[in-house]
Amino acid sequence: MLLEEFLQTARNQRMTVVGEMAFGEIAGYPFTLRPTVISQQVRSCAAYFVVEGRMPNPVFKELRKSLKPYGALSYMGSDRSRISFTCAGAQSDLWSRLYAGLSYLSQSFQANGIGIPQVCPICKQPGCNALAYINGYVPVHSSCLQNQAYSQIASAESNNRNGNYALGILGALLGALVGSIPTILLMFLLSRISAWLYALIPLGSYYGYKLFGGRMDKKVVLPVVIVFSVLMVFFTELVVGYLSIVKEYSMWLGIGEYLSLYFEVMTVGDIVGDIALPLIFTAIGLFISWDQIRRGNTDFEVSADLTLQTLTIKNPQIAGQTPSAAAMQPDPAAPSEAPLSSSQQAQSGWQDFSGDQDYTGQ
Ligand SMILES: [Zn+2]
Repeated sequence: MLLEEFLQTARNQRMTVVGEMAFGEIAGYPFTLRPTVISQQVRSCAAYFVVEGRMPNPVFKELRKSLKPYGALSYMGSDRSRISFTCAGAQSDLWSRLYAGLSYLSQSFQANGIGIPQVCPICKQPGCNALAYINGYVPVHSSCLQNQAYSQIASAESNNRNGNYALGILGALLGALVGSIPTILLMFLLSRISAWLYALIPLGSYYGYKLFGGRMDKKVVLPVVIVFSVLMVFFTELVVGYLSIVKEYSMWLGIGEYLSLYFEVMTVGDIVGDIALPLIFTAIGLFISWDQIRRGNTDFEVSADLTLQTLTIKNPQIAGQTPSAAAMQPDPAAPSEAPLSSSQQAQSGWQDFSGDQDYTGQ
């Protein structure tokens, strides 16, 4: 199935389509659809749900088994409130399999009293009146989301005008220094090295840049963070070497004395060998924060704008612990029973696509 065809079908189901993702509801449960696309062809599609609290494991296991004919159910990471359902490999029957799986899933949620989150992720208050994608398609207050997105856009624009490279660079240096403190402290207090702590150096450097009001221009932020991280790793190695002499010989050398000793004893190969492992973990830190670091003002604005586009105002308010789809009776005992019956479609709010050759055909 072509991506365009897939997205058009989603629109026909009255889902909100933003980029390659679609946002919809089934029996009151909001979900995100994310297709895997290879050269414009949809190869599989994952549906993500965020539920209230943690999913009871026995329920989850049972569901996973029952859903096997339609697709694979899993938790997203270790978070038991985030559930992903993936329909793979299907071409023409992708939508009908998705629909069957999601109907069954939503019925089981209802049967087991599993609801959707009730509080707005921004202000943590109940009484949401809209749905939006905030790390999952969840209930929000439309005003909270709009305020947040507009202030994000405004702050990106103000940073564009007033951001200062020199201050940012200073912040990046100080931030990298702060990021190296845990490594140095651990060495000083416990005479130990934890390579993972090196991952904090690029993080510190990036947040330092940001905190000091550096202009968020990725062509500058990225090289600055990388250069200061590498320099700080070398500096940290020097300090750690100094502290190990203090620990071993109870000798506090003068700085000049230590440096001349260091460069006398260490060959370039030794130094490279010493900082190789710390650098690997620094690179891991960079990798972890890559998504943040590579973002410039334009990216912040685009992501705020995309979030705004997912906003779906609901009327009346989203209330109640468990969405109550009128007349939709949970029937977990019969997962494969006529999942595409027209009565179920009418109840679910998904309309006329199951038997429609326009959508299910190639
Ligand atoms: Zn709110």
